Amino acid sequence: MRRVLTAATAALTLTTAGTMLTGGPGQAAPTAWGRPTVTLAPQPGAPGLGDSYFPDYGNGGYDVSHYDVRLRYDPATDRLSGTTTILATATEDLSRFNLDFLLDVESVRVNGWAASSSTAGAHELVVTPARTVTRGQQLTIVVRYDGIPSETLVGDYTGWTRTDDGALAVNEPESAWWWFPSNDHPLDKATFDVSVSVPTGVEVISNGVQPRPPLAEAGNRTRWSWRTTSPTATYLAFMAIGQYDIVTDTTPSGQPVVNAYSTSLGALGPAARASIERTAEIVDWESGIFGPYPFEAQGGVAGPVDGISFALETQTRPVYGPGFWRRGANTYVVVHENAHQWFGDSVSVADWRNIWLNEGFASYAEWLWSEEQGEGTAQEVFDFTYASYPADSGFWQVLPGDPGADRVFDDAVYDRGAMTLHQLRLAVGDDAFFEILPAWTAEHRYGNGTIEQFQALAERISGLDLDELFTTWLFTAGRPDVASAARKAASPPAEPKSWAKIREAHRLLEH
Ligand SMILES: [Zn+2]
Repeated sequence: MRRVLTAATAALTLTTAGTMLTGGPGQAAPTAWGRPTVTLAPQPGAPGLGDSYFPDYGNGGYDVSHYDVRLRYDPATDRLSGTTTILATATEDLSRFNLDFLLDVESVRVNGWAASSSTAGAHELVVTPARTVTRGQQLTIVVRYDGIPSETLVGDYTGWTRTDDGALAVNEPESAWWWFPSNDHPLDKATFDVSVSVPTGVEVISNGVQPRPPLAEAGNRTRWSWRTTSPTATYLAFMAIGQYDIVTDTTPSGQPVVNAYSTSLGALGPAARASIERTAEIVDWESGIFGPYPFEAQGGVAGPVDGISFALETQTRPVYGPGFWRRGANTYVVVHENAHQWFGDSVSVADWRNIWLNEGFASYAEWLWSEEQGEGTAQEVFDFTYASYPADSGFWQVLPGDPGADRVFDDAVYDRGAMTLHQLRLAVGDDAFFEILPAWTAEHRYGNGTIEQFQALAERISGLDLDELFTTWLFTAGRPDVASAARKAASPPAEPKSWAKIREAHRLLEH
């Protein structure tokens, strides 16, 4: 996936944080015994969750458990309106709190009482409830809104993609701001109900399962409903709206499958189907390596020709741009996006700095698939990848373990990221390596993780000190020396059969 936002957002971020964090200190009051005690007045919730790359993403002071997103959308005008009901628990005494959101807000209610709201910074909606919120209190926040997401810009950017026949709400990390108010950081996951009314004849696909079939509404409209019952990071919730052929099935393990293919794909359609229809097989193979599949449904969405150019691991159902099918079927991108269901979706970054935990692992899954398919061993793909970046290439200057906010989706995070995992595998041996992967997904299931926690787990299971390996491969600029590559320097490695497909997939995924 790729990020297109510019540094302008970061500048706004600091201003917002600086303004919003200036809450008054507690007031000292005398007690009956004459000793002062501190009575803390309710404070404003923080406008961010302290992410080291995106400090104003997400908000402090509450924890969301569920989003009920009920919308109405018209492809002809790109007008999106509706109501999101947020169920949350206050984690502090709050005088006010923020949501991340961009569309025009008509009203906000907190526990039934009308609340006032205003905007701040690049994407903050500041909500001041009529009554002070106390720590531990259950909050029902109802936001009514209306807007044209394709014309709602941060700088010159929108994360919403309007197409000829509808729209895609698919992006990373900025996606939610254009369609539902949220606590927009992977640290605060929640379950989702998404329902959208569209003109009859238009399809809507989202995460999870359909709790009820599409329902006819007045005015020749149809309401589509989707539900995901697993904790979901806000950027992994999605909508695809337009003209789609929907294919439903059940896996041998009993999971519902929903695949959808844009009718605009034309001659690309068969290659898309020959790739995405293998999702259940690929997920089953990945389950044998990464541990039990964490979610309640599977599938994939082949987006329209005028939609996104990348693919994203939207939870239970990745969305793919059309470019992956131009050279025929490509199962490598299906392997990549579904590997993210474990690495990224179930176990999410605790801070965006840890993006290697997503992209390095999803990329290495492709190398394992190459090995499985007899199209080149992981060692052969490693050797070829290593040799394809000369020592003086700028590629080696980007640190996969800390690439910087502007390089979250750099080649190095993917390719050097996968190389790092291969070096770990060589260092600890296959037995330990294939014990570490499912242990990681089990220990952090539905939660978050950091690179430091992964290193600690790998050291615990292998019994080795891996500090030098992690420091060299993730945190040190320059091309690391590798014995096998030096040995082969005289005769450059042959191109693995899988290379063209992996290269094609990464050319579109990386940025
Ligand atoms: Zn990825």
